[in-house]
Amino acid sequence: MTHSSHALTEANRLMNVCNSCRYCEGLCAVFPAMETKRAFTDGDLNHLANLCHNCGACYHDCQFSPPHEFNVNVPQTFAQVRAESYAHYAWPAAARPLFARHGMALAVGSVLAFAGFILGFIALNQPGALFTAHLDSGRFYALMPHNAMVTLFGLAFVWMVVAITMGARAFWRDAGAPAVALGDYGHAADDAARLRYLDGGGPGCYNQDDAPTDRRRLWHHFTFYGFLLCLASTSLATFYHYLLGLPAPYSWWSLPPLLGIAGGVGLIIGPIGLLWAKLTRQEDLRTPGFQGMEYGFVAILLLVGASGLALRLLGGTPLLGPLLALHLGAVLTFFLSMPYGKFVHGFYRYLALARYARDRREMHP
Ligand code: SF4
Ligand code: SF4
Repeated sequence: MTHSSHALTEANRLMNVCNSCRYCEGLCAVFPAMETKRAFTDGDLNHLANLCHNCGACYHDCQFSPPHEFNVNVPQTFAQVRAESYAHYAWPAAARPLFARHGMALAVGSVLAFAGFILGFIALNQPGALFTAHLDSGRFYALMPHNAMVTLFGLAFVWMVVAITMGARAFWRDAGAPAVALGDYGHAADDAARLRYLDGGGPGCYNQDDAPTDRRRLWHHFTFYGFLLCLASTSLATFYHYLLGLPAPYSWWSLPPLLGIAGGVGLIIGPIGLLWAKLTRQEDLRTPGFQGMEYGFVAILLLVGASGLALRLLGGTPLLGPLLALHLGAVLTFFLSMPYGKFVHGFYRYLALARYARDRREMHP
């Protein structure tokens, strides 16, 4: 069977070696899923690669890893396949090159460009309000009218949802569009919420050396739950505004700010930990060619969390205007880059876990 890229061809070779060996079958979901197949399509390999959580355990346990001539490095090859799969399934097709260009410079540059755009909007719309809006009871809306904010972010949000849905649909079709039951989605949600397969089969994740720890999982949890708390805060504020007739700003002890503060703390601690883990990750487990996408994604999350928290702490000072522009610039960059960066890994991994839950149920009814 021929494959459409060098990484997929290498993944196919490794899966054939591993299928003969099967030493790692207790480490994670990848090896039991692999054992159900004798031949692998591109869709199967993309499914297996997205099932891999890159814990590094199978590399450390492998008797065929370099310098052995079999040169088995499943985590690195799967990381490459996974990164290529994000671009392969991206919608629209014209946006696929964005994955290779995604990086720290583009992330920070886009945040500053959007922040500049919003500052320009404020200067045109409310001249003089930039450093005095904190004295206004409407605060945020003295800088940017509510309708303008909703229109700008609503359009970016809708684009993000459509693009990610189209990409996930293509991924699912390539995986054979398996008939998954509601319970399988529930199992997948439980596995994803606990990052079950980032534990290296029990002892933890291998990152900078041969000593496994649970730190990478901890940074992921801070980031993931920080993001969910921020999402809950924004959704609740929308509910307050439209259904309860209570527009922002809210006192810090009401629920939307409390959720936002907790989420902002998570989005600072988690991304800093993840950046540190990436910087110290051993060379053999890095993803050649896609480092920019990984760093860029984490940097945007960190900017969203830090600017949101700064806005909450310093929103009563003349810094309100510049901080609001920076935060909105970071959120807009985040929305627009979501379908074209590392963010999609959450969706593809969840779908891979759902297919695995179904396969497991059929194998062990
Ligand atoms: S990674 Fe190595 S030890 Fe593990 S199943 Fe594959 S060949 Fe065997
Ligand atoms: S999850 Fe860990 S053990 Fe499983 S394939 Fe990936 S790196 Fe190897």
